[in-house]
Amino acid sequence: MYHRLYIVIILILFAPLTLFAIPEITLEDNHSSYTDFNIEYLKEAPGHTAGIEQISKMEFSKTIPNKFAFGYKNDHFWFRFSAYNNSAEPKDMILEVTEQFHRITDLYVLSDPIIHKRNGLTVPLNEREIKTSNPAFSLHFSPYEHKEIYIHVQSIYSDFGAIQLKTPEQFFTDTQLRNNIYIFYFGAMLGIALYNLFIFFYLRATIYLYYVGYVFIFIVWAALYKGFLLPYITIDLYNVLQVTIPIFFIFLILFTQSILKTRKKFPRFHKILYSFIAVSFISLIWMLINMPTGFYFMNLSSTVIIPLLFILSFWAAYNDKTIAKIYLIALSIFILGMSLISLLALGLLPYSILLSNAPIIASFFEIILFSFLLAYRINALSQKSFAAKKALLQQQKTERIRLFHEVAEKTTALNRANRQLQKELESKKILEKQLKHQASTDVLTNLMNRRAFMNAFSKEMERIKRNPSDLACLILDIDHFKKVNDTYGHHIGDEVIRTITEHMVNYTRSVDIIGRIGGEEFAILMPNTDLDSAYLIADRLRENIAKDEMTFEHKTIQVTVSIGLTQMKEEEEDMQTILQRSDAALYEAKETGRNRVRYL
Ligand code: GH3
Ligand code: MG
Ligand code: MG
Repeated sequence: MYHRLYIVIILILFAPLTLFAIPEITLEDNHSSYTDFNIEYLKEAPGHTAGIEQISKMEFSKTIPNKFAFGYKNDHFWFRFSAYNNSAEPKDMILEVTEQFHRITDLYVLSDPIIHKRNGLTVPLNEREIKTSNPAFSLHFSPYEHKEIYIHVQSIYSDFGAIQLKTPEQFFTDTQLRNNIYIFYFGAMLGIALYNLFIFFYLRATIYLYYVGYVFIFIVWAALYKGFLLPYITIDLYNVLQVTIPIFFIFLILFTQSILKTRKKFPRFHKILYSFIAVSFISLIWMLINMPTGFYFMNLSSTVIIPLLFILSFWAAYNDKTIAKIYLIALSIFILGMSLISLLALGLLPYSILLSNAPIIASFFEIILFSFLLAYRINALSQKSFAAKKALLQQQKTERIRLFHEVAEKTTALNRANRQLQKELESKKILEKQLKHQASTDVLTNLMNRRAFMNAFSKEMERIKRNPSDLACLILDIDHFKKVNDTYGHHIGDEVIRTITEHMVNYTRSVDIIGRIGGEEFAILMPNTDLDSAYLIADRLRENIAKDEMTFEHKTIQVTVSIGLTQMKEEEEDMQTILQRSDAALYEAKETGRNRVRYL
């Protein structure tokens, strides 16, 4: 219960002491770096630039840690602290202010005479005692010496930074390390920019140009912000180069439009982004006319542009696929870095070196993510074209298959038609044959009709003319056939004709030519047969017909035939002559009693 009271009493007792005593660092032998100590500060009345004598007599009302972040003030700030070399050895130290963008960063040491070392943007690097971008001053401490140190800071930008005290070895080691980190950092950024520039020349897609512009302009800004350009430029150029910020925004917005395809996908979003470009452009012009107010306008605009860009991207990510989501992550990282530096610049966050590097670190990840996005985009595009090619190939394949099937079908149809035609041709041939057969065949007996017989006879005559040989010819007529018809009926007469035909076929050779030349009159040509042989054949035929007891419808019928026979006598004879002689012989057979063979 009582210990709180003790603390209050102690505070009341010691408070006046802390008010009047200057904060002091005691330098120790084994300590190389003092980055955490108290200092006092004083803000001069506006417009008033007092000398160190006056300032040292003024009352420094506030004690703060060795870090400061006052926001955008044009005022002159004074810091002071003292350092004590608590050793019998002399000591060399270096005082460093961790940011380089203040117009004035001067050091005063209250001694006799007063030491004054000038530094800050207005002092070119080669006129500085220690030629680093961060203002740095060497301090020599004699044994047991107290030094009362004043630092005067004035800036047209935000006032933030830290005051550190280091041994020269530590200071140069740290500076070297920091430089190495930046060399790696800027090297990587330049590499990314050049790589994408190369891709731009290869693909000719403007999005790469926007990205490269964005990265390049960021490199310039970061190099400027970190003091890398100090050796090469004047303070005027340094100030002018602040226009990298609006240019940076313009490129970011152009890149955003391209990567999110806002023109097509989010037209309203696209127009709003154009108005952002306009605002950035106005800032740029304004900055060229009047840097401090233009710069302020740019910062003010960015407090609108950045959150709106974030909201719009969030909306795009909500409505779109992977690309917009990765973009949102990248933008969020960038916005985080930018917000932190803005809050620091506005004096709303306490200074730390990490915070002062927030935009550098954040942008590094942002730029890498953007690069990844572009790679993803290429991949997506090539996948798309691959899919299109595949679809085309597939289409070609199906088309080929379809064509193949079509051709196959057509071929089959053609073959079928061809076969059909063949069949029709064949049946036509058969029909023709049948017709021919019908035209040359006697229906009742299936023997040659008169016309066919005459054709066959004339062919045989031609053959004999080429190749002389015997030829016998006979004509056979059924005796009293009228009676058969009258007695048994016409149909029985037909049966009788058929039976006699069978006899004729049986008693002749296959080379012999038989024809029905009249109703019940037949002729037989016997090639290579002389008259004697022909007579024997004819008589046996006659005899067998006469002996045949034909039975039709339980009626037995016996018929006889008369045969007139002859042979070709001279080679010059024509068939009419031969037939007439056969007919004459037949007539004789009839006349001489029928059922006999007569020859002439
Ligand atoms: P001949 O002995 O003088 O020859 O006496 P024939 O009765 O046979 O006399 P002819 O030759 O003049 O008569 C032939 C008869 O044969 C006349 C006709 O009715 C008959 N005939 C002709 N063709 C056919 C036929 O295809 N079928 C039938 N059943 N009779 C026929
Ligand atoms: Mg007759
Ligand atoms: Mg007859």
